[in-house]
Amino acid sequence: MDFEIPQELKDFLVGVRHFRERELMPLEHEFLINGDWDLKTRLELEAKGRQAGFWALDVPEEDGGQGMDEFAMCLVAEELYKHPAMFEFGGSPEPALYLCSEEQKKRFYYPVINGERKSAYAFTEPDAGSDFARIKTSAVRDGDEWVINGRKTFISHVDRADFLILFASTNPGAGSRGVTCFLVDKDTPGFEVSRPIPTMGDAWTPYELTFENCRVPHENVLGEVDKGFAIADHQLTHGRVRIAAYQLGMAQRSLDLAIEWAKQRTTWGKPIATRQAIQWMIADSYVELEAARLLVYKAAMTYDKEGGRNEAFAAKLYATEMAQRVTDRCLQIFGGLGYTKELPIQSFYRQIRVWRIGHGTAEVHRWMIARSLLGLKSDA
Ligand SMILES: Cc1cc2nc3c(=O)[nH]c(=O)nc-3n(C[C@H](O)[C@H](O)[C@H](O)COP(=O)(O)OP(=O)(O)OC[C@H]3O[C@@H](n4cnc5c(N)ncnc54)[C@H](O)[C@@H]3O)c2cc1C
Repeated sequence: MDFEIPQELKDFLVGVRHFRERELMPLEHEFLINGDWDLKTRLELEAKGRQAGFWALDVPEEDGGQGMDEFAMCLVAEELYKHPAMFEFGGSPEPALYLCSEEQKKRFYYPVINGERKSAYAFTEPDAGSDFARIKTSAVRDGDEWVINGRKTFISHVDRADFLILFASTNPGAGSRGVTCFLVDKDTPGFEVSRPIPTMGDAWTPYELTFENCRVPHENVLGEVDKGFAIADHQLTHGRVRIAAYQLGMAQRSLDLAIEWAKQRTTWGKPIATRQAIQWMIADSYVELEAARLLVYKAAMTYDKEGGRNEAFAAKLYATEMAQRVTDRCLQIFGGLGYTKELPIQSFYRQIRVWRIGHGTAEVHRWMIARSLLGLKSDA
């Protein structure tokens, strides 16, 4: 596999770095102290990105985007995630939305590309997270409509979203073969955002959602009835690759900061950089980060060619655990200062924790990889 970055992409990434340095970094302190920016600030930054040409990067050119592949998108994410705000450029639909019919595209896909609408996706329920095929939120057909009842939990970005990519059971007892994907406008009667769920992380809050006799027209079924599980699986594979790339940015920035600090900070008359305890932390972090980078790049390139489910599991599993170790060491190198909100490392450290859970837990990733290598069936 050739990980050589084409010159054109290198130039583009310089632009992304400049954007981070000029637009995001001046707002870092405010972000760290408050744990987030307000929505207005995020939207203004998105608009600035758009003006600078950073918009709809991974959307096909024929749909008005820039046609970047996942490898390029991972490099962009790596650069942006050196900032703790988890800021991303706008205009990129969730992968599931590429399955929209022509009519659905007008209501959901193009408005996302045009920056008029945003989406959130909802799989998880109070009784079904990892074991997502056992969701209980039901959708029952009634003429030209589906009637949805149930609860979803831990749904991110609902506050910023205009519609949901919702997964519901349409064939109870059929497990993964009875899940259907619906596009649900946020103002649909019967759909309620019940409560925010405070977490240890910065930058966003997940929500609990309730559906009570929520009627959705049949034309809002995404893909085919009972075939939603494959849509979810594809969406999650894509997300895992991208999440793995985030870890590279967070770990790299932490390591860069720690190296600079180790050279300046003196104890007993010498920079701590001269102490083997510190050197080993730096060396181990570098080696693990480089290893993760190769896994992420491979997963992204495989995704571009053929999907690469196992590669995505491996990249996210290794990169999230790597980033947790690296940020932990880097925080340690800073001593007390590392624990403060003067620095982004503590924010990265808390954020990374969720990526070992969300989009599939580390344990389930290991299980999936092993199951695939051992040739075991899905319920084994
Ligand atoms: C901040 C945040 C944001 C989120 N955003 C979203 C979102 O936008 N949309 C969405 O749909 N979901 C979202 N989630 C939900 C997330 O995807 C789930 O939390 C995750 O899939 C794990 O499910 P669970 O929490 O139910 O844990 P469980 O499935 O109950 O797992 C509990 C523990 O058991 C372990 N375990 C489970 N099964 C096995 C097994 N077979 N072998 C070994 N160990 C096992 C797990 O690894 C874990 O340690 C979010 C979660 C968080 C915390």
